[in-house]
Amino acid sequence: KRILIIGGVAAGPKAAARARRCDPGAEITIVEEGSFLSYAGCGMPFYIGGMVEKHEELMATPVGVVRDAAFFRNVKDINVLTGTRAEAIDRENKTVRVTNLATRETCDLPYDKLVLATGSKPVRPPIPGMDLAGVYTLGNLEEARAVRQAVEQGARRVVIIGGGLIGLELADVLGTKAEITIVEMMDHVLSTLLDPELSILVERVLRGKGVQLILGSRVERIEGDGNGAVVRVVTTAGSFDADLVVVAAGVRPRVELAREAGLELGETGAIKVNEYLQTSDPDIYAGGDCVENIHLISGRPVYTPMGSVANRHGRVIGDNVAGGRDTFPGVLGTAILKVFEMNIGRTGLSESEARRLGYHVESFICPAPDRAHFYPGSKPIIIKLVADASTRKLLGAQILGPGDVNKRLDVMVAALSMGATVDQLATFDLAYAPPFSTALDPLTHAANCLRNKLDGRARSINPLEVKKRLEAGEDFVLLDVRTPAEFNEVRLPYPNVVFIPLGKLRERAKELPKDREIIVFCKVSLRGWEAQTILESLGFTNVSFFEGGIAAWP
Ligand code: FAD
Repeated sequence: KRILIIGGVAAGPKAAARARRCDPGAEITIVEEGSFLSYAGCGMPFYIGGMVEKHEELMATPVGVVRDAAFFRNVKDINVLTGTRAEAIDRENKTVRVTNLATRETCDLPYDKLVLATGSKPVRPPIPGMDLAGVYTLGNLEEARAVRQAVEQGARRVVIIGGGLIGLELADVLGTKAEITIVEMMDHVLSTLLDPELSILVERVLRGKGVQLILGSRVERIEGDGNGAVVRVVTTAGSFDADLVVVAAGVRPRVELAREAGLELGETGAIKVNEYLQTSDPDIYAGGDCVENIHLISGRPVYTPMGSVANRHGRVIGDNVAGGRDTFPGVLGTAILKVFEMNIGRTGLSESEARRLGYHVESFICPAPDRAHFYPGSKPIIIKLVADASTRKLLGAQILGPGDVNKRLDVMVAALSMGATVDQLATFDLAYAPPFSTALDPLTHAANCLRNKLDGRARSINPLEVKKRLEAGEDFVLLDVRTPAEFNEVRLPYPNVVFIPLGKLRERAKELPKDREIIVFCKVSLRGWEAQTILESLGFTNVSFFEGGIAAWP
């Protein structure tokens, strides 16, 4: 059997390696137009930042063997053609026309099963100056090497176009070496991953590290010095000097081969595949960044180009081209990244996405320590859970903070994958010892908070909504029930604030007006909720608290 694979980074080599294990006799060939194979694209920011010293480390196995063409040939008996581009698929004769980019020689490679793992290409905004020296898009390892070299040679003023996952990872790794400006078209960074009140917390961390954020602004052009080198980025919000510009404005699936071969594309523009990762031609499979996936919550097609997904696709395809029948049900849009001291994760639907899709949404924002507060090294995290108020099914989670986000995120992935309700999440037998968690894990706590809200016991409001109402000058009492020490340390600067510590609330409640709305808060919102119940027991009828307290104040 001849298995031909186009694309040699994540999905392609994974499919090849799995196919070899499942079918020792197959003839397997990978065609890759670039010069590097099977590298960890996700590691590029860390190579640029110098935490990964040599680019070869991104291409090595955990025991340090570099996965180059010789490795694939000698160890796996897989034939690799680098520097070779697939130009066209002849589905009738089952061949692919390829060109050796060095010699310009072409030939037709036959296949029984073809795998498209052609990946994605960075978006190149149609603005003047994109071709200047010093402007990069981080589309491949060659560009990552050039960016690192530019920084090592003294590029200090770095403008990153795009405040998404890649732009922020780059700001993180270059933050101590360069002056960073991020230009983002949307009003917030990470706007496709997080709800705005959480993006604002990430922006605070970035600004705290000296990163200049230019939000809600478009780049109009990139200007050069007359000799072809970049000097300035001109945006709708002003001009910014630059020695180096990295455009991280998203990626598009590479679908030219598939389109020209008449394979069906999906509504996102990426290649449409079934659960076996077969295209509309059953002998052609596709996976990785070039295909669209089904969202496991919404059931809709989505384009979520991630290395994690590409590798899982590769395994399923490898099985199936070797005669298996493995399936890939879909994705949750899970992502995780680190921005300076903040870990940021999300999975499932954000509240904004869920609302757009028409769900009857309820959510809760819950700060908590990641391990016992008395154990050295305990750090805060903030969990936002999103659920369908009609069915109580979980829809998604966003988790961020300096603490252990990763553990909670992956528990949420498991919960969402199994279709759990918020009530089921609260019963999970999660691990606890003080160095790892709290007796009630932050996730259990967040689930219980959301259950209280869904049950109508806790009346809570999103902190961003409260902030907007304060800034609009609305008349309500903002009741701070923290301790005097906390009040002296940090306070919310609005005339609406009335300060009564929780311990004094029963005694001093008569100072509060019964005919005005009261919104309570504390450090995290636990005492806020207690205050709500105290005031209600005393006959107050219009009391709520805002979620997240000072810890999550946007
Ligand atoms: P690609 O990596 O795009 O590889 C496709 C290959 O196909 C390319 O080498 C291309 O040259 C080749 N090709 C295309 N067309 C042809 C043709 N006609 N002929 C021959 N060859 C062809 N994902 C995560 O999950 N976590 C992360 O932390 C993360 N961080 C990232 C950081 C950066 C800076 C970048 C750029 C990406 C990151 N990603 C991350 C995304 C991840 O790298 C991609 O999802 C993954 O590389 C996709 O793999 P792929 O094999 O589908 O496609």
